[in-house]
Amino acid sequence: TEYADISIKDLEQIAKSSFPLCMRHLFDKLKEDHHLKHGGRMQLGLFLKGVGLKLDDALTFWRAEFSQRVGVERFDKEYAYSIRHNYGKEGKRVDYSPYSCQKIISSSPGVGDHHGCPYRHFSEDNLRAALGKMGVNNQKIEDILDKVRNRHYQLACTLTFESVHGSSCDAGINHPNQYFIDSQKVLQS
Ligand code: SF4
Repeated sequence: TEYADISIKDLEQIAKSSFPLCMRHLFDKLKEDHHLKHGGRMQLGLFLKGVGLKLDDALTFWRAEFSQRVGVERFDKEYAYSIRHNYGKEGKRVDYSPYSCQKIISSSPGVGDHHGCPYRHFSEDNLRAALGKMGVNNQKIEDILDKVRNRHYQLACTLTFESVHGSSCDAGINHPNQYFIDSQKVLQS
């Protein structure tokens, strides 16, 4: 693999420093609710695989959260399969790829879903609050909302990246895992 392995204890830290808003939102909701619906489990689960979380660690991580809500037995019975499935260990044994921005932006999250792209799927108030929480200043937030109103969601995400990292991102954001890798490059340089 081209990525360094990531351990569970690092997740909290790298979620804050290097996850794009779509993944940070899912991560926070999982920690808060100890549950995510199918679309969220897929979007976050495949992203974490791309980040370098190994299957055994992924099972430990998801089990620790879900068991607080549904119990260990139900997790092992109903949810562990889909995580092994994401890693190509069940069913057709396809090694599924993490979702691109385009795929995430064109998804249709329903009530109670937390997947999707916040720039596309959040209300303006919620997006404003989420960006503030990431440390983006008010002037930049207005620039970002301007991109959103013109439906330039990936450009909005790129502006967020640049604001949070104090560094330009010339290629633009087109994949959550690219956001992560570019972030780690900036932070480690
Ligand atoms: Fe995630 Fe892409 Fe949306 Fe950024 S533009 S929040 S990386 S889906």
